[in-house]
Amino acid sequence: MHPRRTAINMKTIIEPFKIKSIEPINFTTEREREAYLRRAFYNMFLLPAEEVLIDLLTDSGTSAMSARQWAGMMEGDEAYAGAKSFFRFEHKVRQLTGLRYIIPTHQGRAAEKILFTIVGGKGKYIPNNSHFDTTRANIEFSGAEAVDFPTQEGRDPDVIADFKGNMDVTGLEEFIVRVGATNIPLCMMTVTNNSGGGQPVSMQNIRETKAVCTKHGIPLFLDACRFAENAYFIKKREKGYADVPVKDIVKEMFSYADGSTMSAKKDAIVNMGGFLALNDEALATQARNLLIVTEGFPTYGGLAGRDLEAIAQGLEEVLDEHYLHYRIRSVEYLGERLSTAGVPILQPPGGHAIYLNAKKFLPHVPVEEYPGQSVVVELYRLGGIRSVEIGSVMFGKYDQQGKLIPARMELVRLAIPRRVYTQSHIDYVIEVVIEAHQRQNVLKGYRIIEEAPMLRHFTAKFEPIA
Ligand SMILES: *Cc1c(COP(=O)(O)O)cnc(C)c1O
Repeated sequence: MHPRRTAINMKTIIEPFKIKSIEPINFTTEREREAYLRRAFYNMFLLPAEEVLIDLLTDSGTSAMSARQWAGMMEGDEAYAGAKSFFRFEHKVRQLTGLRYIIPTHQGRAAEKILFTIVGGKGKYIPNNSHFDTTRANIEFSGAEAVDFPTQEGRDPDVIADFKGNMDVTGLEEFIVRVGATNIPLCMMTVTNNSGGGQPVSMQNIRETKAVCTKHGIPLFLDACRFAENAYFIKKREKGYADVPVKDIVKEMFSYADGSTMSAKKDAIVNMGGFLALNDEALATQARNLLIVTEGFPTYGGLAGRDLEAIAQGLEEVLDEHYLHYRIRSVEYLGERLSTAGVPILQPPGGHAIYLNAKKFLPHVPVEEYPGQSVVVELYRLGGIRSVEIGSVMFGKYDQQGKLIPARMELVRLAIPRRVYTQSHIDYVIEVVIEAHQRQNVLKGYRIIEEAPMLRHFTAKFEPIA
């Protein structure tokens, strides 16, 4: 008898849901995929999704909604002003974050755009553990400077540590003293740290960051896209939290925040949506004025009433610890199995994705020949898996002689959509990645034959190097 045994203690990961509605996968052959690759110039962004078997391009907006969320869609109140759905959404976000003013936006970057249009501008600095690319872009577009403070261990892809997403608090404080607190309208903290590999931030680190901010009179904002995944890591890894419900961990995380931006396309488990949440009334008034110009009236902000219902419900479901266990454990399982088979990955597994280390995967392919792109192409060719290169294709630049300035790391991200794939899909991914790794010696590099001046990875055309 195991009176206290639950599925969480068992080895096999079971999805904490049954499947009520399905979407068929279009099976293709290697030969067909080779033709699709040629037609798409070996760029995954140029492939129709129908030609993909397992789509691990992103975890953003790709979630499966629950029956209750779909039911909520039917309940959506589409009144222009004061819709019932808005108040349900506002109540839920307020309950979760403890923040006073809740402003819906159509996605995370819209909240960022509004926030930094108000507080950014030339001569201003916005620190963060690591800025996500849209956050950085919105800050820089305002004329301000986006500055990252990852820790030493957070920068090392091979170190195994519990909280590699942490802020370098000492570095942050030195920076504040150097440039002056008056030039820092707010400090951000991204949970989990997406650009740093989906690595979590500890409660202690949030607390210490808040203490430094308070000492210098700077508000702290959470970029809260994956707040629930971060809270679950705290429960599992940080001393003193093992018996605390995730709901209460989330509450404590937000208790240190003066505001928050959120993409609901992540941990609210919906396909579109976001919000800006604030405590400062004057800032909220300014934000609402901008919202009316760019997004819509403050009680819908670029979303339909039904979207607000789905977000409110998703924010409830994401706190279910059986869901979080399945979510974090299945990503970790993918990482463990690859690692055991000798496939080089960024350690330890993050919350929403596994990152393959392409420099080690293909040590014979120089960075100028984009080893990450070569791995991406092979995963698709072999198994129809769509992943994304996060390396010199995405972040590479050229010097004045036209020579490539490579990215710091050459990674391939396998992002796991929420509630979409089962453990057998993950087993299939493991099989394909291991087979690709066994073929490493025959894999060749790629050259770019056409590219745009900005964000080239979306449209670049490639050809294999003979
Ligand atoms: C996705 C994301 C954003 C931007 O959100 P969108 O909904 O894609 O606009 C901001 N920050 C982080 C950490 C993200 O992961």
